Order: sequence, then C-alpha cells, then structure tokens
Amino acid sequence: MNKQEDIDSLIERMKAKGNLTSDHVEKAIRRAPRHLFVPDDEVERAYLDLPLSIGHGQTVSQPSVVAKMTEYLEVKEGDRVLEIGTGSGWQSAVLSDVVGESGKVYTVELVDDLAEKARKKLRDVGKENVHVFVGDGSWGLGEYAPYDGIICTAVSPRIQDEWIDQLKVGGRIVCPVSGAVLHNLVVVEKTDENSVETIRKERGYRFVELKGEKGF
Ligand code: SAM
Repeated sequence: MNKQEDIDSLIERMKAKGNLTSDHVEKAIRRAPRHLFVPDDEVERAYLDLPLSIGHGQTVSQPSVVAKMTEYLEVKEGDRVLEIGTGSGWQSAVLSDVVGESGKVYTVELVDDLAEKARKKLRDVGKENVHVFVGDGSWGLGEYAPYDGIICTAVSPRIQDEWIDQLKVGGRIVCPVSGAVLHNLVVVEKTDENSVETIRKERGYRFVELKGEKGF
C-alpha cells in the first residue's frame, strides 16, 4: 500500500464528485491518517470511500460523508465543537485540525471500549485539543457548553432540544435524521436563543442509529 498515493487519489475522487470543496477540510483530512484509526484488518481499505467496521456493530463513516459534514458545520480556528458518537476518533481528528490549537473538540461515545481506543489513537497522533467522554450524547454535553458547532455522527430521531440549548447563537448542528426510507442529512443554524432555521436537508444517507435515552 502506498499511503500517499492512496490519500491523493481519495482526495481527487471526493473533489471530482463535489464532496470536498474547501482547502481547510482537505488539509484536515490529509493530516488525519485514517489508516491509524481503523482496525488492523481494515488498514488496506482505509483510503477507499467506504464506511468500515470498527467493532461493537459500529462503523467509521465514509470519507466523503465526513468531508461534507465537516464543511457543512462551518467551524473555524479557535472554535469549540461537540461531536456525538466518537466511534474510531477519525472525525474528531479531522475536526481537531479545523479548529486548531486554540480550539477544542469535545466528543462523546456511548461504548466505553470505543472511547478508550479512540482516546489512545488521538493521543498517539498528537490531537491534544480533543477530549473524549463516555456517556449518552443524546443529552449533549452540558458541562462544556456553549459550542460553536455540534455534529452527530449517528442517525437521530430528531435534532434534540438539549443540543440546541447547548449551541451558541449563529452556530450550526449537522445531524442525520431518520426519514421515510433512508436518512436525511440535516443542517440547522441557531438564529436566536429560541429558534433554529433549517439550512439544508439532503436525502439518501445511511447511518448507524443513535442509542441512549433520547435515541432509538
Ligand atoms: N465519528 C465516528 C468516526 O469517525 O469513526 C463515526 C461513528 S459511528 C458512525 C457512530 C457512533 O455513535 C458509534 O460509535 C456509536 O457507538 C455512537 N453512539 C450511538 N449512540 C450514542 C449516544 N447516545 N451517545 C454517544 N455515542 C453514541
């Protein structure tokens, strides 16, 4: 496996399909070595545009979906982000680069074994601005709120009220929400203390389910 060639070709394919359009997210993906976040038996497939199994019935999302969700979140250097569903830690690693050393990524995972592995991998690749918590992210993470952006990496029955409460005015939530057949990727923006506006709703996605008290 020639990793540099594989990364270049993945980036080119995502750009050609319009799934990766910004330089800052391209740079963040290049600096988050996906092969270090997947299980050993998936390393060869790390730079294919596929979701891959990470154990416990969970997956690391496919790169083009991570690229899009990161772009839709519109966070920048210095921002504080909440991720619900740490999984492998790869999406957190991408966000870590986008918010930079002056920003922070708080990420919550329900399965403690996944959280533990992700914490170690993030430490190994030097993503020191990422803080991994074990818990039920369907309630958000009130302790460190407010956030400039919230991203949920599992399909939720709805955009939870607690997430909206924990978001700053002007911030966005990016979250797959269950639809009639497949899932809709929904982006909302908090317009004032009590309301959000839907910016985008794209059909045809498939995510693992958000569990926990307010999940499925
Ligand atoms: N962002 C991840 C990555 O880069 O690997 C993808 C994660 S996977 C698609 C979704 C994750 O959400 C799973 O690891 C699952 O255990 C987690 N999850 C499901 N329900 C949750 C909940 N209520 N709170 C926190 N994590 C949850």
